[in-house]
Amino acid sequence: MKILMVSAEMAPFAKVGGLADVAAALSRALASRGHDVRVVLPLYGDLDRKAENIRPLKKLPPMSLRVGQQVHDIRFHVRGSTSSAVKIYLVECPTLFDKPGIYTYANGSGFEDSLQRSSLHAQAALLLPRLLDWPVDVIHSHDANAATAILYRQQWYAGRHLPGPAGTLLTIHNLAHQEVHGLDAVETLGMARSQASYPGLLEFHGQLNLLKAGILGADLVNTVSPNYARETTGSSEYGCGLQEILQSRGKEYSGILNGGDYGTWDPTRDKALAANYGPGKLAGKTKCRKALLRELKLSPEDNKPVCGFVGRLVGQKGMDLLLPILGRLADDGFAFALLGTGEQHLEEATKEVASRYPQRIAFVDKFDEALAHRIYAGSDLFLMPSLFEPCGLSQMYSLRYGTPPVVRWTGGLADTVSDAGAESGTGFVFNDSRPESFLAALRRAETMFTDKVRWKDLQAAGMACDFSWDVAAQSYEDLYSKVIKKQSR
Ligand code: ADP
Repeated sequence: MKILMVSAEMAPFAKVGGLADVAAALSRALASRGHDVRVVLPLYGDLDRKAENIRPLKKLPPMSLRVGQQVHDIRFHVRGSTSSAVKIYLVECPTLFDKPGIYTYANGSGFEDSLQRSSLHAQAALLLPRLLDWPVDVIHSHDANAATAILYRQQWYAGRHLPGPAGTLLTIHNLAHQEVHGLDAVETLGMARSQASYPGLLEFHGQLNLLKAGILGADLVNTVSPNYARETTGSSEYGCGLQEILQSRGKEYSGILNGGDYGTWDPTRDKALAANYGPGKLAGKTKCRKALLRELKLSPEDNKPVCGFVGRLVGQKGMDLLLPILGRLADDGFAFALLGTGEQHLEEATKEVASRYPQRIAFVDKFDEALAHRIYAGSDLFLMPSLFEPCGLSQMYSLRYGTPPVVRWTGGLADTVSDAGAESGTGFVFNDSRPESFLAALRRAETMFTDKVRWKDLQAAGMACDFSWDVAAQSYEDLYSKVIKKQSR
């Protein structure tokens, strides 16, 4: 099949969170199963073109595209070698994409021209099959920013030529990000004003909502775990207001569990680590722990766990459960290696508590891929008290690195981690969203941590988990086949 991925992120060069890992690993898994996969991304201003081997695609000339009242110059580039299994196209547009960052400025506030960026990205993506005369089978859009490609496919290209069936699949990686704008913005999208003035594809509660348009406009819709699919149709809390829109798709909305990218996340050959290790051979993990403590100047008490956290510092990730109990656990001898950037007030609050416990709490407010690997490997426990979690990849990595996760029973965390109380347990699971419940799960972990035999069994059970991309890729193939069938009806 010929698949065009439209995504704002792709690991490792354009990454904010899990979407980047998925765009990269799913594309690779599909390509290795024989599909022709091409990805279109914006060419972000802070990408190092030389280091990333990004160069202009000579066979396509520079051109211009209209977004609202403005005309923008664009040029297609490619990354890597043309012979690589997944072809990556990047859209250069200095007027829109030249600033550093993917969605936000360094201080966390969103770009004011996000709709323009989304529109240009989508237009360029839909142009590509025509320019390359490449009969695309499926346009696979990821999240609200790329949902615009589905909107344009449905509205603009309904009667215009696109080579191939060009069916559409929308994957929702996070329902909380919907790209909501005032009704006037309909002109920026290049759509008729009438589309904004009455409920339909785009309008939602008096505003434009791109994710809603994607959900209603796509041939099929999925999200990234079966449990999150259930949660998001079951309540307004998880559905973020769109639960009825999702329900209206019936069986055309489903959940496919993400895989773990074990090519990148493998402690037996991870180059970022002080030592490598694997199931049954955990001496290397002890070295990683020591190295991490040295690097971050941490000293936990004997027999107390080192707890790692790697993630975006946003409400979703459960910082309001973690911050109130950090001091108490640090007093009790726990150590914490925290890595993340995000909302300013959460960064400040984390900094404040870390400054009170310099030997027990290290907080690094950076995006640092290599340090993330060292934290997954060097910690004894991995913390994910998320309020909601569409799938979550970090818990899959921590399992593979022999670091039992402590998670809230929600979304993909519930699909991937089972409580150590059960025979097949792999981590520590708690239910409600109170700091006390999180604390109780950590206390259970603390007790089990002193029983070295049980702890080894727990690590072994986690390391044996295999959330393979190959399985997920087969499920996506099934969706693609259905999408193509729908288009050819
Ligand atoms: P989400 O997609 O909600 O951010 P996931 O668990 O699916 O959460 O994926 C998060 C990914 O981003 C993981 O690969 C994690 O290691 C990475 N990550 C998050 N914050 C940082 C950071 N500050 N530095 C390095 N990697 C990070």
